[in-house]
Amino acid sequence: MDLTTKFIHAGVDRDPVTGASSVPIYLASTYAQTDPDNIGHFDYARSGNPTREAVESTLAEIEGGAAALTFSSGMAAVSSTLLLFQPGDHLLVGMDIYGGTYRVLTTLFARWGLHATFVDTTDPAALEAAVTDKTKAILVESPSNPLLRITDLRAVAALAQKRGILAIADGTFTTPYLQRPLEFGFDLVIHSATKFLNGHSDILSGVVVAATQELGDKLKFIQNAFGAVPGVQDCWLLLRGIKTLGVRLEAEQRTAAWLAEELCRIPEITRVHYPALPGHPGRDIHLSQASGGGAVLSFELRDVELTRSFLRRVRLPLLAVSLGGVESVMTYPVTMSHASMPPEERARRGIGDTLVRLSVGLESGGDLLDDIRQALQAK
Ligand SMILES: *Cc1c(COP(=O)(O)O)cnc(C)c1O
Repeated sequence: MDLTTKFIHAGVDRDPVTGASSVPIYLASTYAQTDPDNIGHFDYARSGNPTREAVESTLAEIEGGAAALTFSSGMAAVSSTLLLFQPGDHLLVGMDIYGGTYRVLTTLFARWGLHATFVDTTDPAALEAAVTDKTKAILVESPSNPLLRITDLRAVAALAQKRGILAIADGTFTTPYLQRPLEFGFDLVIHSATKFLNGHSDILSGVVVAATQELGDKLKFIQNAFGAVPGVQDCWLLLRGIKTLGVRLEAEQRTAAWLAEELCRIPEITRVHYPALPGHPGRDIHLSQASGGGAVLSFELRDVELTRSFLRRVRLPLLAVSLGGVESVMTYPVTMSHASMPPEERARRGIGDTLVRLSVGLESGGDLLDDIRQALQAK
């Protein structure tokens, strides 16, 4: 089946009891048992819920995994995944990883004794050189955030397999519609489902998809034991959001690709980062492992003053954190998505104070470009 069909029919696509076209929202914290010696499939809502199970089976199928587990946010998914490891273990993590992942690793998990080295994963030799005896996993994002740098996922999976460690991808920016890391040999794919998967900027949710049932079982144990589970209404909204993932991302990506080229022609914009743009250093690798450039781009303006006045004048995109919604969102990484990273770390990663990130929504591309043009006129 084509993915666009799977988005509608994968997993549980109707209520098994009544045939209703939509899976019910099972608002229950506990389940009555009939036999004290033989507890049924559902016993307590932290351990399992039919609405949650429906969206998890859909997510496992569209990502091509053996199991999927949902969490209360993308960070809950990341943190719960990190509980697979132990104090003393070491991880290799992409240099321009999501700011919240950087924060939880360098504060809470560092204090707990899980160590991370941040490496330029776009350089396979640098990555290999950084592996130690204690390294248990490699965690990457491709394209990365906010500079849309590309990591060769096949090379990461091959290195992980060679060293007998886990390869983990944060696939939030691409979703399984554009890229499925498990097909390249990755063990786990994490998403902030808050973003494209749900797509309507109205819930927080996270998911981890496991390549094997064994890893899925370990994560299921963590999900229940640690307890960062999603609310049932959010599971239902996520299930509904996934149904339109294909058409949304297709349209958003088309506009993003067009805008990226148009922005290159504007003199006040000195650089555009978009992985499908001719001249992007990772373009060939990206297009060999993803079916399109995606709907997120970033660009650099001539100077800081212009950047600030531009962000104050822009009308159509929300000036906000987050991405992947039907509405375009403009983010200023320095004070927003990457504020949790120390300034010197930001500078090392090339996240400067004239950099702006744009998540392209479903508005008309022409209207977005007109708005960007007017916002560039100095007051
Ligand atoms: C937003 C985001 C997260 C965290 O997800 P939340 O749902 O906000 O907790 C993790 N990774 C990436 C790439 C993200 O964009």
